[in-house]
Amino acid sequence: MPDRDHTTLQEKLHQRLRFYDDLGLGPFYRDRGGSGMPAPVFIEESTVPKAAKISTTSAVVAAKSAAVAVAEKSLVIPAAAGASLFEASNRIAGDTLLKIREDLGECTRCKLHKTRNKIVFGDGSAKAQLVFVGEGPGADEDAQGLPFVGRAGKLLTQMIEAMGLQRGDVYICNVVKCRPPGNRQPEKDEVDACSPYLFRQLDALQPKAIVCLGATAAQTLLQTNRSISQFRGQWLDFRGFKMMPTYHPAYLLRNPAAKGDVWKDLQKVMAELGLEVKKNKAK
Ligand code: URA
Repeated sequence: MPDRDHTTLQEKLHQRLRFYDDLGLGPFYRDRGGSGMPAPVFIEESTVPKAAKISTTSAVVAAKSAAVAVAEKSLVIPAAAGASLFEASNRIAGDTLLKIREDLGECTRCKLHKTRNKIVFGDGSAKAQLVFVGEGPGADEDAQGLPFVGRAGKLLTQMIEAMGLQRGDVYICNVVKCRPPGNRQPEKDEVDACSPYLFRQLDALQPKAIVCLGATAAQTLLQTNRSISQFRGQWLDFRGFKMMPTYHPAYLLRNPAAKGDVWKDLQKVMAELGLEVKKNKAK
């Protein structure tokens, strides 16, 4: 049956591309960050030329080149083809927020534990369809053990309420769960130690949409060093979840003129969640 053969070849091609990715050959078409390589380019079915559906090495190379060319031309980060083999195998069946919190324990996996007061695991509904991911706790969050409770948090609460939701309807967490001293950005080793727990949280929650607040969150999920201004406001894919990168509320406190952009991004999220989109909420 021709249809079945066709699908099998496509599947084989995807598997092989993911295999190359897992071998570290991903930078041909997907930025793994830090190397000045091209932006994350995730191969979509539509970007694979017909000839490449024949599973040969040259066809695979042609598929990668075509995908890179398409992505570079459009300057858009296309949707991911799906989780890589490593990402897929990292998923823990039956995982829950409670188990993840227990596994985290009184974490000493990175140097942030030395200066933190409280671990800020996350807060909100375990059934949330919408998850906000920030960078890391600040002084207020470190003192209370809750995410986004300081000035930026108050603005985030207003943004959530402007969407017609309450904080308790959504889930809020961060890339790192302990406060970086002096509110500096988390360092790579800290993100590497902590992000697996964020990824488990997202997998356990299975949200309809993830909003990344600021560059650290978006770059961590996308594994890119690209500036957030290059992809803010576009639906992107994180392991099969719809992900909307937007500016961090702390940035909005410094640059209120950017609130309009963020509101446009949140309206896209509202449309995705089936919430009534009201006009002129940005101030
Ligand atoms: N900024 C963040 O990124 N996260 C918080 O929890 C608070 C401020």
